[in-house]
Amino acid sequence: METVVYKSTRGHGEPVSASYAIVHGIAEDGGLFVPDHMPKMDRELSELMEMDYRCLAYEVMKLFLTDFSEEELRLCIDHAYDDKFDTREIAPLKHPGESNVLELFHGATLAFKDMALSVLPYLMITAAHKQNLEEEIVILTATSGDTGKAALEGFANVGGMRIIVFYPKDGVSSIQKLQMITQQGDNTHVIAMKGNFDDAQRSVKEIFTDPEEAVRMKNAGYMFSSANSINIGRLIPQVVYYYWAYAQMVKSGRVRLGEAVNFCVPTGNFGNILAAHYAKLMGLPVGRLICASNSNNVLTDFFHTGRYNANREFFVTSSPSMDILVSSNLERLLYQLCGENGAQVQELMDSLRQRGSYILPVDKTVLEGEFWAGFADEEATAAAIRMVYETEGYVMDPHTAVAYSVSEQYRQESGDDRPLVVVSTASPYKFPASILQAIGKEVPEDEEELMNSLSVLSGTEVPQRVKMVLNAPVRHYRVCEKDKALAEVHDILGL
Ligand SMILES: *Cc1c(COP(=O)(O)O)cnc(C)c1O
Repeated sequence: METVVYKSTRGHGEPVSASYAIVHGIAEDGGLFVPDHMPKMDRELSELMEMDYRCLAYEVMKLFLTDFSEEELRLCIDHAYDDKFDTREIAPLKHPGESNVLELFHGATLAFKDMALSVLPYLMITAAHKQNLEEEIVILTATSGDTGKAALEGFANVGGMRIIVFYPKDGVSSIQKLQMITQQGDNTHVIAMKGNFDDAQRSVKEIFTDPEEAVRMKNAGYMFSSANSINIGRLIPQVVYYYWAYAQMVKSGRVRLGEAVNFCVPTGNFGNILAAHYAKLMGLPVGRLICASNSNNVLTDFFHTGRYNANREFFVTSSPSMDILVSSNLERLLYQLCGENGAQVQELMDSLRQRGSYILPVDKTVLEGEFWAGFADEEATAAAIRMVYETEGYVMDPHTAVAYSVSEQYRQESGDDRPLVVVSTASPYKFPASILQAIGKEVPEDEEELMNSLSVLSGTEVPQRVKMVLNAPVRHYRVCEKDKALAEVHDILGL
């Protein structure tokens, strides 16, 4: 197997191994690690069809994590995709009416973040051993709602690690907040930041790339790493489910082996859709990747105009995990579009930091063959939830509904009638109030009643995990100003 090494998107430093990239999370120059070349799938699609999720995960991940042994990687995968998921399929493909919906929310925290964050802690421990690290790893994470809980759950009580999560104080759903502030585990810390997700993400990135801070940490016996999708160890496990979805499409007779499938992905930080792009580069028959945004439609404008402009009103929507104006993983796509010119990417990122915008230095038509972008505002999102419920009895969460709505727009505007998979990123039980409201039902004040109403509506049982959270004691009370993240981190670590 050919070795894959990882380079920074900003062009500095020597290439590093996969385990180095996972442990460090972000490159020293502030860039993101990217594979030096895209490995090609070395198995026939027909062979992959026969595999269960874990075997398939191994076949995909081994091509990227070339310094992990087979035994190490299989162990990580087996620990991750087990009965923490409420279905043996791990990521079932459902078919409400004529649609295909890939449900990625069957893990421990009911959001698609579990797909990667259930395996990342194992990858990180394995990688830390390989790197002979002596420091305690401190996972610093900014969350728009779902990453935080999934990372807390994944890293709780993992020896030699601590996890600190910042979430936007008024930017997450009440169940998302409850999930985080009731988190168990002596090594977990949760802080509400008085700001939005972009503020939290920026603070965390600044701490990561502050050279003085790195020295102070090292002297105290700590090092930082990331559980955000800037970590390549998050991205690689996400490639797996695009192969999985394709296999399910073939098995159910919805597509012939080798025929292309379109995917429509509800997008925030551009991690999920980038994983689909990687699957395509590896050789999976993927047609168009449809980038679906909510009212924070900075990506829609980018794909249409070639200008990325974050200087705009920020909306708090019913799909909070996509309320993002600075999509960090886009940097990885830019690197590729700029012909792997790190200096050019650095200029774009400087422009983004200083002016809040940049212009794609290459002709935007390079994007058009593969990507299409659209957005659904609050009204369109609610209409999609209501329509699919009324016609098919299938209940979608608002993030999935954004993608559903945009996929309809795409079909109408493009006339492309290839098979399409809508990627579903959260369980309806994470956003019950928005759903009941969209369908025109009464919205009970009490969380438990809310869940029960949704249960009746959808004909599904309230997940055990939700019931537990509703009754769990609050353990985390920290709140901080948006420019005081570092002080919180010092306080927690006793620095
Ligand atoms: C994180 C998240 C998204 C956005 O995914 P990205 O990889 O950041 O683009 C969409 N929906 C839900 C429910 C999420 O938790």
